[in-house]
This record gives sequence, C-alpha cells and structure tokens, in this order.
Amino acid sequence: KEDMPRKPEWLRVRMGSSAEVKRIKEKLRKHKLASVCEEASCPNLGECFSHGTATFMIMGDICTRRCPFCDVAHGRPNALNPDEPRELATAIADMGLRYVVITSVDRDDLRDGGAQHIADCVRETRERCSSIQIETLVPDFRGRMDIALEILSATPPDVFNHNLETVPRLYKQVRPGADYEWSLDLLAGFKARQPDIRTKSGLMVGVGETNDEIIEVMRDLRAHNVDMITIGQYLQPSRSHLAVDRFVTPAEFDEFACIARELGFSHVASGPLVRSSYHADLQAKGEKVG
Ligand code: SF4
Ligand code: SF4
Repeated sequence: KEDMPRKPEWLRVRMGSSAEVKRIKEKLRKHKLASVCEEASCPNLGECFSHGTATFMIMGDICTRRCPFCDVAHGRPNALNPDEPRELATAIADMGLRYVVITSVDRDDLRDGGAQHIADCVRETRERCSSIQIETLVPDFRGRMDIALEILSATPPDVFNHNLETVPRLYKQVRPGADYEWSLDLLAGFKARQPDIRTKSGLMVGVGETNDEIIEVMRDLRAHNVDMITIGQYLQPSRSHLAVDRFVTPAEFDEFACIARELGFSHVASGPLVRSSYHADLQAKGEKVG
C-alpha cells in the first residue's frame, strides 16, 4: 500500500483539554463505558465533551458488514446485552450530558436489525434525563425496513440520523451491502411516520466522488424530506483502509454549505473536521457549524 498522504494545514487537530473533558473521561472510566469519541480518537473530542456532547456505540463492537473506510471490527457479533439500555442511560445521567448520540454497528443477524434495542436505549435515557436531547444514528435495516421503522418511530429520538456516506456511484466499493435508494427510503419512511422529528444524514468527501455528485445527493436528500446534513473530510484510519482520493478545501466546504441552505436544509454542518455528530447540540439548534 502507498503511504498515507500528508494532511493539509486545515486538518491539524486542535486538542485542548478542559476540566469538563477530564470530568467526563473520569465518569466514562467509572461506568466502564467506551465512547466513539475516544475510541476513534475523534479530533473534536475536546469541543464536544466540553459542550456536554458524546457518542456511544451500542450492540457490541463487531459489525456484520465490512465497509473499507470504517475501523470497526468485522465478524460474528456479540450477543446483545439486555442490561445495556439501563447501564447506558445510568452513565449518561451521571455524566450530565446535554446531547447524546447513540449509534451502533450493523446487526444483520438480528430479526429487527437491533431496532428494539436502540428504542430501549432511547426510552431508558429519556426516563433518567428528562432534558437531554437524543440523536440516534442508525444502520440501514436492510430487508427489515417496516418492522424497524415501526419500532423506532414508537420511541422517537430528537434527531433521526442515518448516513448516506457517499454518492450512489461509489456504493459498491464504499458501502458494500448497502443500497442508496434503500437508505433514502429509510429516512423518508421515518419522516412520514414522525413528521415533527428532524431527520439528518451525512456524507464524507474525498473517497472518489465529484462535487457535482455531492450536490446531486443533497437534492435527493431534500426530495426525501431530510432536514439536516453533515459533510466532512474522509480520513483513512490506517494504511489498510480505503485511500483518501482528495482533500476538499475549506472553500469548497463553504460552497457545499451555501448550496445546502439554498436547497432548504434547516441545519447544515460542512467543514474538513465535521463528523456526523460534531457539535450535534449546535447543529440541532440551527447554529452555523463547520
Ligand atoms: Fe462500519 Fe457501519 Fe460499515 Fe459496520 S456498517 S463496517 S459500523 S460503517
Ligand atoms: Fe464524539 Fe462525534 Fe464529537 Fe467526535 S464529533 S467527539 S465522535 S460527539
């Protein structure tokens, strides 16, 4: 494999560590809970933790899919932990988070794709933290759309997020096992059942797409009533992952944001370090992020 390309200046990480970050990290250790923020060495950790935002991955750490951009292990998944919803909610309450993103691996092995487990986590968290905002970042539930949507819309989050990740032309290569139309339909299907809950999707750029293709995807998202969008630079987790095709410039990210607003997205986060959950609290309030 070729060497990983040097990152441009605008991708250098701002680490910073505040008392709040330290406090949250201590609580995580106390509850023996791993956050995606730490596991993925997310460049935004300092900012997110100090805003009371964190992301947790539920249903184990082994995925039934194998996407070449993703660092999550692949294989036979762990059995679901029936205590996880309660344990997660207890930890979130103790941390005093204001905004939590609950995400998961794909569980193609489960009859409902894990929808009930996700809903249980949302319910338990709401019961313990009445003022927290909850975002679920869900898998595509391929082959199980109706049952999953029925369950998930019965215990809705504040924001329903499902990432398209990339443009349809690159799906076979970048999201094997997924289907572009299916993912759009999942987002539209949730909105149809819960019109007052915001829907959200995200794209990573720099995997071989063109800017025009990105704009086409934005149009498709709006045609499926998606309210919020995140666009960020793909970074290769290791040499054995999908290579970075290009570094999109900050000016191009600004251009995407402009177009997204014109297309009618109510919440737009577009920038090199933007991640699906980056400043999710501010995104949800509609403030400019990126
Ligand atoms: Fe990673 Fe999600 Fe793909 Fe699984 S489905 S390999 S968690 S990106
Ligand atoms: Fe965590 Fe997401 Fe913030 Fe990164 S962007 S620190 S993963 S909440």
